[in-house]
Amino acid sequence: MSNQSGRGFTRRGFISKVGQGMLATNFAGILTKRAQAELVVPEPPGKKLGWAIVGLGSLAINQILPAFAKCEKSQVVALVSGHPDKAHKLALRYGVSAKSIYNYENYDSIKDNQDIDVIYIVLPNGMHAEYTVRGLEAGKHVLTEKPMANTPAECQQMIDAGKKATRKLMVAYRCRYEPYNQTAIRIARSSELGPTQMILSDAGFNIGDPNQWRLTKRLGGGGSMMDIGIYALNASRYLTGEEPAEVNAMVYSTPGDPRFKEVEEHVTFQLRFPSGVLANCSSSYGYFHQSRHVVMGTKARLIMDPATWYTGLRMWIERDNTIEERDLPVVDHFASEMDHMSECVIQNTEPLTSGEEGLRDLTVIQAIYESARSRNTVHL
Ligand code: NAD
Repeated sequence: MSNQSGRGFTRRGFISKVGQGMLATNFAGILTKRAQAELVVPEPPGKKLGWAIVGLGSLAINQILPAFAKCEKSQVVALVSGHPDKAHKLALRYGVSAKSIYNYENYDSIKDNQDIDVIYIVLPNGMHAEYTVRGLEAGKHVLTEKPMANTPAECQQMIDAGKKATRKLMVAYRCRYEPYNQTAIRIARSSELGPTQMILSDAGFNIGDPNQWRLTKRLGGGGSMMDIGIYALNASRYLTGEEPAEVNAMVYSTPGDPRFKEVEEHVTFQLRFPSGVLANCSSSYGYFHQSRHVVMGTKARLIMDPATWYTGLRMWIERDNTIEERDLPVVDHFASEMDHMSECVIQNTEPLTSGEEGLRDLTVIQAIYESARSRNTVHL
């Protein structure tokens, strides 16, 4: 009898196989639907998260907006400003849609804008806490400028708001995202200089206009220490990888200088770390531009000068009679920090400079002010 058994088919077998095939197809259909519901699909390569910039002042206009051109994972999609003319001009220049321009009153409605993933707070220090919390409550991830806020209590409110909203919170310590400071950290924590004995760090500049927000207690939170001295403090902490156990500080403001009616001009402070390493630091709104870290080891010392400027960083190691200059790749600090935040959102990982990191600095700053006021050592 002629059948198709030679090719492995009988009528019964054919029906049976067709039946199995249909069953398999249906089963596969069920599987596909279930898999679709559960499947976590990786982001397409090259996907950029949408960023909203809040506060269009000097830093936003001159550094942050231009940095998006160098970002691989971040693009600007919205602006928040109290000045509509400025916002529209910048929106046109950076390809931001007019419907994605907000002001401080309708800021909370960003929650309805699905193009915005991350908010970057670039407002005066005294406004960071409020706009961060509102941004988190709108369901967005937040990067806030340094100092994180005016007080440790505000920092804690911001951290709590991030946890409640299950959104990322990062503080913009840009130096952690560029190779010179990253290399200094690696060397200072290795045996390359011999064990680190002491850190020296100075940060300051001669501030101008006496009427600016930086010189008010409400918006500045304090004087040079909050604005620029925080770089010396943060560096002492990241170069040692330790938290200070003791703080001593002195404050001085030139009598009669109209700039220092509410906030301090100079601060000197010393930190003692648990390992025994000491840090000797200065912060100023009075002296000429200064930005220097020195890591003193038993065998050599590492010097960075300038250590924290946007460009032109230099680093060298002095050992015996040699001076070895390190030339490292130059990156845009802001592009690098924003891409780190985007990466943390995409991969669901914790930012290197999280809210807790910002809180640690504010806790030490509070101790610095307390030590200067009481003329006592403050134990942390
Ligand atoms: P800025 O004065 O140039 O800009 C502040 C912006 O906030 C302006 O657009 C202003 O219009 C707006 N604003 C809204 N409400 C305001 C109010 N009540 N009073 C004053 N301004 C108000 O300041 P900036 O230099 O751009 O600094 C902004 C933030 O960025 C600060 O927290 C500062 O510490 C930080 N910052 C960081 C770096 C860094 O290297 N990471 C450098 C500079 C500034």
